[in-house]
Amino acid sequence: MDLQTFKATTMAEALQQVKSQLGHDAVILHTRTYQLRQWLGLRRREMVEVTAGRGLNFVRRPRQAAAANPAVGSRSNQAIGATGRGLIYGPGAGRAGSAIPTALASTAPRDQMEGARALMDTPAVGNALMIGVGQDMAALKKMVEKLVFENSKLNLPKLPEELLEHYTNLIQNEVAEELAQEILRTLQKELRPEYLTQEKYVRERLADHIEKLIPSSGPITRKSTPGPHVLALIGPTGVGKTTTLAKIAANLKLKEGHRVGLITLDTYRIAAVDQLKRYADIIGSPLKVVGNPEELREAMATMDRMDFVLIDTAGRSPNDIMKLNELRELLGSIKPDEVHLVLSSTGSPACIELAVQRFSEVRVDKVIFTKLDEAVHVGVVLNVMRKLNKSLSYVTTGQNVPNDIELGRGRMVARMIIGEQDNGFRPGSYK
Ligand code: GDP
Repeated sequence: MDLQTFKATTMAEALQQVKSQLGHDAVILHTRTYQLRQWLGLRRREMVEVTAGRGLNFVRRPRQAAAANPAVGSRSNQAIGATGRGLIYGPGAGRAGSAIPTALASTAPRDQMEGARALMDTPAVGNALMIGVGQDMAALKKMVEKLVFENSKLNLPKLPEELLEHYTNLIQNEVAEELAQEILRTLQKELRPEYLTQEKYVRERLADHIEKLIPSSGPITRKSTPGPHVLALIGPTGVGKTTTLAKIAANLKLKEGHRVGLITLDTYRIAAVDQLKRYADIIGSPLKVVGNPEELREAMATMDRMDFVLIDTAGRSPNDIMKLNELRELLGSIKPDEVHLVLSSTGSPACIELAVQRFSEVRVDKVIFTKLDEAVHVGVVLNVMRKLNKSLSYVTTGQNVPNDIELGRGRMVARMIIGEQDNGFRPGSYK
């Protein structure tokens, strides 16, 4: 037999060398560890040496067959007997109940049996067993992966490969499954098959589709009838209503030169009132704090010479039905020209969905999405716009007042969902 010696610092490495040089049917005949002296003997390093050969593929045979046919046993024993220690390293070897103990038990003389038993306790065998188990595990892993892949394919819509990639991307971006399917099916119908491989073209068409689902309302403009144009922001607590109101007020007043009055219905949070008071002082606008419909009507009366009146409302938990009813009553008493639902793009889809459902019962004309600068997935913007069937008025992209606000543009959201390099933010593009 063609014998070779392999040296390495660990048994696993040595066995790996055996496997790659001699293949899976290699036979390990001998292992030892020794100290390698380096640096004039000043340093020592433990090394592993494995002697192995090729060509002996020890096949598992039934016990009776081996016993009935001494030739089989003696041939195996010749190989083992060459050193007195032999380990089959190949398919079927290294597993519990593998060929070695079985074959040896039936044919090997006593000293060889003991040698084999001793060998089974050596680290080399342990490593070989580990490799065997490792191979089994790897094969198992592959099988499971294949099964998972096949299974996931069952849930995927029937789409050409090129579009399937976009579908999974939409899902990863938290676009609702049904919506993602609908978008890609429409796209598939529209695209001629020869265009499917043109990646840039497909992305642009996909962006067109998403954009169409997110209509923009355009900037806030005054109604033509006399009196102030009244706009109210509603939404859950902490989404950025007060900050957004300040951004809009500052743009209307400082950039466009309108007379702007502010009213807050947030009598619950002193800090929020203080915050708005500071903004009102900076932009030079009057601020009224009101707690009931009557006070609200009175405050409105004091602002009848304004071009715009912006109303901030206390954040309501979508679960607090009583407060939501109270909010509806307050707004009902003055009938604003526009009610914008403010949602944070960093919220979980479930929370956003609940907020959409509950605040829709109050009144929603337009939608503002805040914190796009912090959002990881913006598919939720698409889901909401589709569900509400309203237009997107503004998006906010940071904490800076008044700059981090811009007109809601479906194309920008589409680019973010598709994962374009340039997120499309245009800070300050309020109009
Ligand atoms: P409200 O409770 O809805 O009135 O929310 P606030 O206006 O008090 O804002 C809550 C927090 O969100 C504050 O720390 C704001 O600075 C922050 N915030 C508001 N808008 C944005 C935005 O567009 N991006 C980021 N990153 N933070 C924002």
